[in-house]
Amino acid sequence: MYWTRSFIATLKEAPEGAESVSHRLMLRTQMVRMLVAGVYSYLPLGWKVLKKIEEIIREEMVRAGAQEVLLPALQPVELWQKTGRDELLGETMLRVTDRRGRKLCLGPTHEEVVTQIAAGFVRSYRDLPFTLFQIQTKFRDELRPRFGVVRSCEFIMKDAYSFDRDDAGLDGMYEKMRLAYERIFGRMGLDFLTAKADSGVIGGDVSHEFMAPADSGEDVLYRCKLCNALYSEQDAQTSNCPHCDEDMEKIHALEVGHIFKLRGKYAEVLGVKFLDEAGRQQVVQMGCYGIGVSRLIPAIIEQNHDADGIIWPRAVAPYEVMIVSVNVADTEVVNAATLLDQQLEEAGVSVLVDDRDERAGVKFKDADLLGFPLRITIGKKWAQTKKFEVRDRRSQEVVQAAPQEVVATVVRLLEGARKDG
Ligand code: ATP
Ligand code: MG
Repeated sequence: MYWTRSFIATLKEAPEGAESVSHRLMLRTQMVRMLVAGVYSYLPLGWKVLKKIEEIIREEMVRAGAQEVLLPALQPVELWQKTGRDELLGETMLRVTDRRGRKLCLGPTHEEVVTQIAAGFVRSYRDLPFTLFQIQTKFRDELRPRFGVVRSCEFIMKDAYSFDRDDAGLDGMYEKMRLAYERIFGRMGLDFLTAKADSGVIGGDVSHEFMAPADSGEDVLYRCKLCNALYSEQDAQTSNCPHCDEDMEKIHALEVGHIFKLRGKYAEVLGVKFLDEAGRQQVVQMGCYGIGVSRLIPAIIEQNHDADGIIWPRAVAPYEVMIVSVNVADTEVVNAATLLDQQLEEAGVSVLVDDRDERAGVKFKDADLLGFPLRITIGKKWAQTKKFEVRDRRSQEVVQAAPQEVVATVVRLLEGARKDG
């Protein structure tokens, strides 16, 4: 892709009101744009990152045995009244009335809908187990939308729901999902902690949160410096920390995932029952597993940036390489950039060519701000040296490469920039 033909632009300053590093960087790189408070558009760079994150999640969900579905955002409020969650969600739920006077809501989550589907499907133990997942837009009228897409009113979630015949089945799937989450966040280069959590309005008895440490994180965890045990703010306040009331490290974090053992909570009310081998009626045991897909972008940026901009882990970078041609009036330089772009694309490397007629300083600043793993400069001395300058955004190391070796050099350096364990 050539910058001059793209819908890519950068801002020198973030608009007023951006409260965190990731929010500022997402606005300065125009990954997202606010429509109204808590509602964002994804522009090409942001959309590319979102797609890469989604694809990693999709692969790992399928690997864990889940099947993809797409459930409706519009849901009857009546269904929520059956589980009592209409009142529980209260004003968080965005409500609409259609022309027939039907009361609908824009789904804040999908336990009710998916459980109702299962109720129409499950008859016998032979229909179990199964796990469904979707990657879809959720709506929550948040009291305080903040930090851009960290807490917005319309956001993208991956939600999965497992259906098993008994506790042992549920325990097995819960463990599989926990491992899938570890792989997902690992592949994105995200550091995270896992904490036992309160099940909140979702319910159930066992639940774990996946927390990405970040300075701007709204959640607070305490880690015992002696035994590394993790506690939520609530645990610490209610002195739920057995032996660790001293020497606690305070950690700010963003909740990026949350998994729950719901057991029979929804299945009982909405009638997901089956006949076992002995012909006895049993209640299906459910689990649910959420990931804040859009929140992952700021979480990754919070952990991967410096004073100059973003430092993308390769697996989620919008492009892997930025080619900077310093003098676009020089046809030899332009031709070298065009050829290198073709060669890299053929080798499976994604490239943005900065072909703007701008000063070198401006282009280097933008390359740092956008933070693709590698920058290749075709400099002023190109005519004499015929050497590309390949610079690693994270380590800032620079390698000179001749035309015949540059593709191999880039591939090798990108392997190093993978950061996915
Ligand atoms: P929070 O405590 O941050 O409000 P939650 O516990 O209400 O989140 P869940 O119902 O567990 O959220 O949703 C699953 C995931 O969706 C969360 O772990 C989080 O990453 C993400 N998420 C929840 N609310 C929002 C929001 N308003 N904007 C963006 N992502 C969100
Ligand atoms: Mg949660």
